[in-house]
Amino acid sequence: MNDQPKIALITGANRGIGLETTRQLANLGMEVILTSRNEARGKQAADSLQKERLKLYYHTLDVADLASVLQLKDFVTSRFGRLDVLINNAAVYLDESESILEIDPQIFQTTLHTNVFGPFHTCHEFLPLMEQNGYGRVVNVSSGYGALRTLDSPKVGSYKLSKAALNGLTRLMAAAVDPNKVKVNSVDPGWVHTDMGGPSAPRSPQQAAEDIVWLATLPENGPSGKFFYDKKAIEW
Ligand code: NAP
Repeated sequence: MNDQPKIALITGANRGIGLETTRQLANLGMEVILTSRNEARGKQAADSLQKERLKLYYHTLDVADLASVLQLKDFVTSRFGRLDVLINNAAVYLDESESILEIDPQIFQTTLHTNVFGPFHTCHEFLPLMEQNGYGRVVNVSSGYGALRTLDSPKVGSYKLSKAALNGLTRLMAAAVDPNKVKVNSVDPGWVHTDMGGPSAPRSPQQAAEDIVWLATLPENGPSGKFFYDKKAIEW
């Protein structure tokens, strides 16, 4: 790589772990494309970071909508011609207390569309660009609920299945590219104090973002196709 600043893209970055990860990546000197499905909330988040003199771009992105992903791809290719870092952070958590037999099928569908099809579409559109440019770091923000052993209990079924599938996507995408150039990894951020994690969660967004940034800045000899918690590889 030359000395040009790295271009990073992050999904669901208007709040929570995504917003803090944007801040940390931009503080490293990356030019970050902050995306959100709600334009007003995303622009407000981008404005708050620009007040910290961080270099940011804003673009709308609903990860569950392929047309929205393709519009963003047009913006990235025409504006930058490359993408160095992709953080698949956006997700929904809609079935906390029900058994898989009780959930509304619409919740199952929305969860899979957002948490699996979303990262599939962004990887599918941006990994070839990374390969072409000889550099890429992809971080799929998964969950402890993505570990296969959690599937033996029927609650949180659509979310757990979505994160297990996301982990599968990590392995498939990692296998599809040259690991010396493009690295694709999953991370469990832990239980984090955000709107999703709730006020009792022990980890801060700052701690979660540090793990994501570590994977987003892996060196050439770093791992690919693995699942991490606290910077250590964990079981699928
Ligand atoms: P959060 O505060 O609920 O934020 C989720 C973000 O995803 C929001 O910006 C939301 O946008 C966005 N989003 C949802 N659907 C979207 C879509 N279709 N298109 C684009 N953006 C969309 O959650 P968080 O705690 O920061 O979670 C971030 C990541 O960490 C997620 O992948 C989550 O599964 C994972 N995680 C979190 C925890 C935890 O304890 N917090 C634990 C394990 C894993 P809106 O504002 O428009 O809703």
